[in-house]
Amino acid sequence: MSTLNAISNLLVEEKPLFGMSLDQLTDLMERLAQKPYRAAQLHDALYRQRITSLDQVTTLPQNLRDTLADEGYTIGLPEVVQTARSIDGTERYLIRMADGETVETVWMPDGDGGERGDGSQAAEEEEKEEKEEKKEQENNSVAAEQNPPAFPYRRSTICVSSQVGCAVNCQFCLTAKLGIRRNLTAGEIAGQVAAVLNRHRVELGSSRGNPTPARINLVFMGMGEPFLNYANFIAAVRLLTQMPIPESRMTVSTSGILPGILDFAKETVRPKLAVSLNASNDQVRESIMPITRKWNIAALLEALATIPLRNREWITFEYVLLGGINDSLQHADELIALVSGMRCKINLIVWNSGPNMPFHEPPQSAVSAFQKRIMAAGIPAYIRRPRGRDIYAACGQLKRTVEQPPELVELTPA
Ligand code: SAH
Ligand code: SF4
Repeated sequence: MSTLNAISNLLVEEKPLFGMSLDQLTDLMERLAQKPYRAAQLHDALYRQRITSLDQVTTLPQNLRDTLADEGYTIGLPEVVQTARSIDGTERYLIRMADGETVETVWMPDGDGGERGDGSQAAEEEEKEEKEEKKEQENNSVAAEQNPPAFPYRRSTICVSSQVGCAVNCQFCLTAKLGIRRNLTAGEIAGQVAAVLNRHRVELGSSRGNPTPARINLVFMGMGEPFLNYANFIAAVRLLTQMPIPESRMTVSTSGILPGILDFAKETVRPKLAVSLNASNDQVRESIMPITRKWNIAALLEALATIPLRNREWITFEYVLLGGINDSLQHADELIALVSGMRCKINLIVWNSGPNMPFHEPPQSAVSAFQKRIMAAGIPAYIRRPRGRDIYAACGQLKRTVEQPPELVELTPA
């Protein structure tokens, strides 16, 4: 590249290609007087091959790559800038966007097969398959030793952020303390997944001639409220299905944003839904989730009833157990009355602590009594195993921990 070109590049605004849909890429190629199949080639390189620089798109002629670069186009994948690793194998990444804003993304290899750790429904359905597979693997253990698999886990779940910070202000959640800084774009949401998959050299799908495609589940349960960034969230889902990660392996969690739920009900391609209920009546919910004043529990349940559930699909209600606040058996009975008759299950999450927060973890005995009461009413209830608590990667602890005192986490350069 000439010096003049290099200087003019500095003046051209960077435009990320990662995040553009096939239609948008087709428009771009048309503007550059290229054939439409060039858009399909670029789309494949971005989402299926997950290339990281324009030079790697070898299906495009050099002069087209140069034109794109001269116009300021870059791949524009967000970058993993810090990592922390938990004793349970969970990894938390600080991921930086082009403007310097950062979010956290979490990698959770292997569920535990008993208590559900990753919050996704896909994980639970897989449990059965896994038992079968384990038997088979035991039979083939000698062959497995000779050919170690490319993806050394049974599955892995990526917890994805949808906003920088969050506006919802739930009192028990550390992300809320950040306030909302901005929405993430579709490319930045899907880009977290691409960056993490690249880091672990994960091969998806069988289209690369890969005999053991990795099982990746996604949970949109990181920083932010996906349904307050609805258009970008759902556009990201569409991009992610191209990688390919099927939407049946994705679960999105909302604090109960009604307009988002009503839009979601109309989608043909959509993840499964989890709803952070967290209380059994409006009074308690208002005190811990002020959003209840805008949309109360009755309105929330009414909106959920508009979602046409698919075969073997249910709605997950998340219920963060806060000692002395929402964890009594009376609360459990109220919860049963609220959801009975719905095709749903309850995920109980023991509150993960954060500094200067006026809550405490309920005793183990209260947690299991609460679970038993719900199960006795015929409603499935699971206690979610916290993942990565020691590195502040568990639910509600994502706070861009770069701001935490260093002794809390072990941070290593990416
Ligand atoms: N904003 C979305 C998704 C991210 S939060 C939502 O609220 O649903 C994912 C889950 O973590 C939610 O169910 C939330 O209630 C829960 N959570 C938040 N803070 C927590 C904490 N400190 N301990 C345990 N769970 C928490
Ligand atoms: Fe936002 Fe979810 Fe945290 Fe509530 S629990 S503040 S909605 S991230």
